[in-house]
This record gives sequence, C-alpha cells and structure tokens, in this order.
Amino acid sequence: MTYDRLVCANCAAPVSEGRCPVCRASRERLQQQAGGVFAQLSPAMLVALMVLLLAVGLLLHQTV
Ligand SMILES: [Zn+2]
Repeated sequence: MTYDRLVCANCAAPVSEGRCPVCRASRERLQQQAGGVFAQLSPAMLVALMVLLLAVGLLLHQTV
C-alpha cells in the first residue's frame, strides 16, 4: 500500500506532503505500519527465498 495518493481529510492536500499535523500524523502511522509489516515479512521472505534458491539449485544440479 502506498500513501502517495492519499488526500488528507483536514487540509485536502496529499498526505505525503505533510502540510498539517493530521497529514504528518497519518503519514507517520502509515510509515510505521509499512515498516512493521516489512520487518515481520522480511525474515520469513528471506528464508523462503533461500529454500527456493536451494530447491532450484538442486533441481538444476540434478538435471545437468
Ligand atoms: Zn492535512
């Protein structure tokens, strides 16, 4: 999810510009949410990627 196109309900400007406290608050909240999700997903995704690479490597090794 991107917050680039979100429009603030308080000042009607893009939230990403942070023109008013409401903008800045929601922008920070969204960034924290995105960071939290990424931090949670990242290790699992790394493990999944490593397993996938190992599987592909083994398959290639066996076929060649
Ligand atoms: Zn605003």
